[in-house]
Amino acid sequence: MAFKTIFEPFRIKMVEPISVSTEAEREVYLKKAHYNPFLLDSEQVMIDFLTDSGTSAMSAAQWGGMMVGDESYAGAISWHNMEKEVQDLTGYQYILPTHQGRAGERILYGHLGGKGKVFISNTHFDTTRANIEFSGAVAIDIPVEEAKNPMLDHPFKGNMDVVQLDALIQKHGTENIGAVILTVTNNSGGGQPVSMKNAKAVSEICKKHNVLFILDCCRVAENAYFIRHREEEYAQNNYREIAQEMFSLADGAVMSAKKDALVNMGGFLALKDKSLADACKNLLIITEGFATYGGLSGRDMEALAIGLKEVFDEDYLHYRIRSTTYLGEKLKAIGVPIMWPVGGHAVYVDAKQFYPNIPIDEYPGQVLVGELYLKGGIRSVEIGSLMFGKYDEQHHLVPANWELVRLAIPRRVYTQSHIEYVIEVFAELMKSRDRKNGYRITEEPQFLRHFTCKLEPVNA
Ligand SMILES: *Cc1c(COP(=O)(O)O)cnc(C)c1O
Repeated sequence: MAFKTIFEPFRIKMVEPISVSTEAEREVYLKKAHYNPFLLDSEQVMIDFLTDSGTSAMSAAQWGGMMVGDESYAGAISWHNMEKEVQDLTGYQYILPTHQGRAGERILYGHLGGKGKVFISNTHFDTTRANIEFSGAVAIDIPVEEAKNPMLDHPFKGNMDVVQLDALIQKHGTENIGAVILTVTNNSGGGQPVSMKNAKAVSEICKKHNVLFILDCCRVAENAYFIRHREEEYAQNNYREIAQEMFSLADGAVMSAKKDALVNMGGFLALKDKSLADACKNLLIITEGFATYGGLSGRDMEALAIGLKEVFDEDYLHYRIRSTTYLGEKLKAIGVPIMWPVGGHAVYVDAKQFYPNIPIDEYPGQVLVGELYLKGGIRSVEIGSLMFGKYDEQHHLVPANWELVRLAIPRRVYTQSHIEYVIEVFAELMKSRDRKNGYRITEEPQFLRHFTCKLEPVNA
């Protein structure tokens, strides 16, 4: 379509009211939540950009599927629908349903891992790394050099450094490599895409050394969009074919269906090799459920099968990626420092540049998170020193590499008016970038402090 307005390729049949609050009300809510938006109730939030995981709006067809979900313990029709759909998409024969992505990760990497094993990825997502390390193995990230500069324009910042890959496999020895994992798109790197050329190179190196190649395919449809629009040879292919070609390069895949399968809960593990699949199936039955439901209801599997088809719709993917990019472009145009180029599912703001006068140990990212909420009722998440900071022996903060704020966009949930509203709120915040004071932590747990810690404004 040649028009500039982003056309949402759906009509709204059922609405979920947003409770509109005033700034004065939000001041009370935020104080009660100790300046940590994880402690807010969802009804106190107007635009929820906390995560794109499990927050998609399902279609009428998916809700229809929920009603005919077959809840039989074994051999349910809904299971066969899901199995067929995943087989068709991935080309792999052995499909194991799991309740979400990390369950598949625990089964596969728990089995392949253990002390002495090494896993190599463009970037391991948090839960992937946690499951690998929990098994006693080591997880090594080798993103390309371009990925390390957040402002550098490059079409495929999700790529893996294949020169390092080859060297690492040789250094550690083929027999010690648990798997090579390509995360598409690269979530931790801002939803940056991986090119087909890079996936092919990774595949060749894995074949040469006879090591297992796994796709972490949570956002494989969004990645396919970028391939078609940025990699010339693929300009004519449809998105599903592009994804299928990528799967054909690997030996298996793990998916959190809470992303590109457009459901609120679900996942799967898909494998080419029978003996590996058999071993995983044993673990699945011990901890998740029987092999034909693996922790999912029949209705979940039915909706997942439908969502995996819908996500490759041309108009949907265009709307999806354009609206994320639109938000990033507009913010950049009004002077908001953001990571560039914009990825598939989120926009990242550089809070250190946004509030240059706020000391790092007063958490400029968390200040922006707080201000977005106060001014606009927008919930976002800090990815900086509050999330990843450590303390030295004198209890001084050892900062993270970046002070970022992530705006993750749920799928099919918000309209362009909502996005325009977010841009307007940012324009308002641009007027007070000279702020000098941030927050101090008053209470924090030992691990994963960002979820539950309490803060208060400094000099308030
Ligand atoms: C979300 C995600 C996972 C984990 O999936 P869950 O469904 O949250 O358990 C793994 N890898 C990537 C890239 C993800 O985005």
